[in-house]
Amino acid sequence: MTKLKMTNEFKTLKKFDAGNGREGYLHSLPALEEQGVGKISRLPVSIRIVLESVLRNCDGKKVRRKDVETLANWNAKAPANDEIPFVVARIVLQDFTGVPLVVDLAAMRSAVKRLGGDPKIIEPLVPVDLVVDHSVQVDFFGSAKALQLNLELEFKRNRERYQFLKWGQQAFKTFQLVPPGIGIVHQVNLEYLAKGVLSAPSTINHQPTTIFYPDTLVGTDSHTTMINGLGVVGWGVGGIEAEAGMLGQPVYFLTPEVVGLHMKGQLHEGVTATDLVLHITQLLRAQKVVGKFVEFYGEGAASLPVPDRATIGNMSPEYGATMGYFPVDQESINYLRATGRSDEQCRAFENYFRAQNMFGMPGKGEIDYSVDVDLDLADVEPSVAGPKRPQDRINLPELGKTFRALLEKPVQDGGYGKKNVDLGEKHLVQLNGSAPRDRAMASTDEIDQGINPGDERNKIEMVANRPTPDTGKEIRAASSEMFTRGQSHIGHGSVLIAAITSCTNTSNPSVMIAAALLAKKAAERGLRVDPAVKTSLAPGSRVVSDYLDQTGLQKYLDQLGFNLVGYGCTTCIGNSGPLHPNIEKAIHEFDLVAASVLSGNRNFEARVHQHIKANFLMSPPLVVAFALAGRVDIDLSREPVGKDKHGKETFLRDLWPSLREIRDTMQSALKPETFRKLYRDFADQNPKWNEIPSSTGDIYRWDETSDYIHEPPFFKNFSMEPGHVEEIRGARALGVFGDSVTTDHISPAGAIKATSPAGQYLVSRGIEHTDFNSYGSRRGNDLVMTRGTFANVRIKNLMVPGTEGGVTKYFGNGKSETGEQMSIFDAAMKYAETKTPLIIFAGHEYGAGSSRDWAAKGTRLLGVKAVVATSFERIHRSNLVGMGVLPLQFLEGASVQSLGLDGSEIFSITSLSDEIRPGHHATLEIKSKDRKSHSVPVKLRIDTPIEIDYYRHGGILPFVLRQLLAN
Ligand code: SF4
Repeated sequence: MTKLKMTNEFKTLKKFDAGNGREGYLHSLPALEEQGVGKISRLPVSIRIVLESVLRNCDGKKVRRKDVETLANWNAKAPANDEIPFVVARIVLQDFTGVPLVVDLAAMRSAVKRLGGDPKIIEPLVPVDLVVDHSVQVDFFGSAKALQLNLELEFKRNRERYQFLKWGQQAFKTFQLVPPGIGIVHQVNLEYLAKGVLSAPSTINHQPTTIFYPDTLVGTDSHTTMINGLGVVGWGVGGIEAEAGMLGQPVYFLTPEVVGLHMKGQLHEGVTATDLVLHITQLLRAQKVVGKFVEFYGEGAASLPVPDRATIGNMSPEYGATMGYFPVDQESINYLRATGRSDEQCRAFENYFRAQNMFGMPGKGEIDYSVDVDLDLADVEPSVAGPKRPQDRINLPELGKTFRALLEKPVQDGGYGKKNVDLGEKHLVQLNGSAPRDRAMASTDEIDQGINPGDERNKIEMVANRPTPDTGKEIRAASSEMFTRGQSHIGHGSVLIAAITSCTNTSNPSVMIAAALLAKKAAERGLRVDPAVKTSLAPGSRVVSDYLDQTGLQKYLDQLGFNLVGYGCTTCIGNSGPLHPNIEKAIHEFDLVAASVLSGNRNFEARVHQHIKANFLMSPPLVVAFALAGRVDIDLSREPVGKDKHGKETFLRDLWPSLREIRDTMQSALKPETFRKLYRDFADQNPKWNEIPSSTGDIYRWDETSDYIHEPPFFKNFSMEPGHVEEIRGARALGVFGDSVTTDHISPAGAIKATSPAGQYLVSRGIEHTDFNSYGSRRGNDLVMTRGTFANVRIKNLMVPGTEGGVTKYFGNGKSETGEQMSIFDAAMKYAETKTPLIIFAGHEYGAGSSRDWAAKGTRLLGVKAVVATSFERIHRSNLVGMGVLPLQFLEGASVQSLGLDGSEIFSITSLSDEIRPGHHATLEIKSKDRKSHSVPVKLRIDTPIEIDYYRHGGILPFVLRQLLAN
């Protein structure tokens, strides 16, 4: 373990009893308060934890005395507009965002070597854990073999990435990897990685000792906030910031406002933690908590177990907060114990927080918050959220009515714009090709091509979209027990995907057991799921399977088709896999607004599946119920879910398990030994991972034949001298977008279209469409990702009205009046030939959605120098700066529309020099095609002094590399 370099600027180091006969030291916040530095005991607990980090790392350089004093004097009602240098204790990554990060570290090592330095100066300085969870896709479902077959495909598709990660594991000392098939990053973090309090060896007065400090982290996934449920401070950052954090840079953020959400009362019987989080999401969205911390407290918060708190913390990005934090109390300690953490760990956690006066759920009036919000848990009702946004909560009885209204509502008002809809009209879909036949009749060729991964429950046939001969053999082996006959009738509102997915809910045994108990009651009554519904169960850890098996409940889920498909993100990240081709054909032919129901946290269009327009978030038991009902145009409080084996109508109330049933089942199922067993030597429990060969050495040997891992050009022509801040002149618009352009629009994670620039590039490399894999899995290759930037099939560039997808108009350096329509990538490359700088224009909330470093990296590599938007999402804005792209914001009242921009103009951004400061106003000069010119001021969204340095250096990576080389 790295020895902690001790600082004691404020003489706050104090001895404390760490439990089990151990003595340790901590940086005492009460001691800081006694010195009169600030009213620390009135600060929100989350702020105090950040303050401890600032105090402990105060060295007069990276962290100054002033930083400690400023934060200790945090003013609830008027927080200072200062940046806080937060040195986190550890970093967590998932594979989609983690691979490019390790690629960048490898590229930095190569650059250092080229410059004659020691490559080993590039090494994570804090522990980094990468959990491989984002790559598994639901190709196979509804079968006992689904897990194994999906895993086979995952390893086959991702072999090159996994080989690279194995190199990283041996090259970097502080880098730990959790291989595929173990779980989802935030659930693994909650159940295993998080310690609550950390310790490191140190020396005080020449005596060896141990320093204790709170477990804090940042992660490259916006739902990192799930760990806030355990009292751990942490949130999602862009890959670029995480990279800087790994390399010893503090994570900088502006002093936040803290919203105190006081909870009282109890949840009613039948109301789940998912209902609660959907309620909170709607409540806090309305409170506009973007960029703020939210702290939950009061007797209602104290009554919630940690899994419920974690579900609420998880959805912070959906309500817009940086964190959704629950202070540490007895429930936190109970959770650590229940999940198999050692007695030593649990005592240290409790004693540390007691010694810091931070133990126990605060009551009303004990802490000063910026904004006070109240919630009576008794007001929460069963609900779902959708069909496009998580904050659009709908009380369960209202769903049918709401869906019907949305069908006919105009598109511009958020509806689907259908006219005279007859919801009774259904279309026959054959699910086994042209004629029913037995599985045995399917030819070996078809199986080898991946046809019919099968479904023993519902006799459905589907196409695995990336088959290989070897997996064909597996499919053949699996197929003997599968059937292929079946048909269905689908229409608007038909449920075609029902997924128990997402760590948001799979980490919460109460809702998982509720789903399984509901499945039991349904299966026992003989209810069945329609063959058109693609059902899946993808828990975030193997612990879930253990308790579902122990309680004998998995078999009922299996009977309804909710067989285990993998331990990973699956449908939550959009890896829902293909639908039956005849279903996709019917959706297309009849322009159906079909539905998915999922226990995830995001539901914007094309997130879940490209062909499913209406996506409803809900608790796992409701996912099962809607799978049975087969449609969303229904009021499940009054209408039957289905008919039992005797033809009798069965209602949701007949199937819903009582709180007592859920609690009794949970008590018999959850054991600390299970967690200890499943998280011990998990790499050894994964033979497929161990079979993967890996290269060794400090420097990665880049392989030009690889289409997954490629050395990025960020350090090409790297020199020790940073450039200057210069004005941007003669620029062209590459895209003009509306509101709520997400990072997924900018850099999609899903399927690569064959006709897209990335698809064409892969074809030119001899790669078959079936082997394209997803953008997310190719983030280690800049050549694919740059071509995939702005390539989401749903992105609408207003420069080319009436189109969708990554198209633009190329205006050929001022020579063309009307512009030539082409792909965004092709236009960017043409502009690069004439060294024409490029600008992106956008509306509100540009870069919303999950943190995605490639959204900024791809923008940079396309040659975009600035993004001018009405407003920015927090992480994406900082990532743009981190990649040396200038974020600029229209001033109040100005917008693309008010300025009448259509993208044919020539632009300049002036009033820029080395003297710029955060919040500086620059000038956007616009010359329209009729040669008229006008200009407007725009605000630099470089928010902190350190960001000025990053921008001047061309981004955070060159900045850090120059610092490391200079030392
Ligand atoms: S399950 Fe969903 S929320 Fe959880 S890590 Fe995966 S994508 Fe993120």
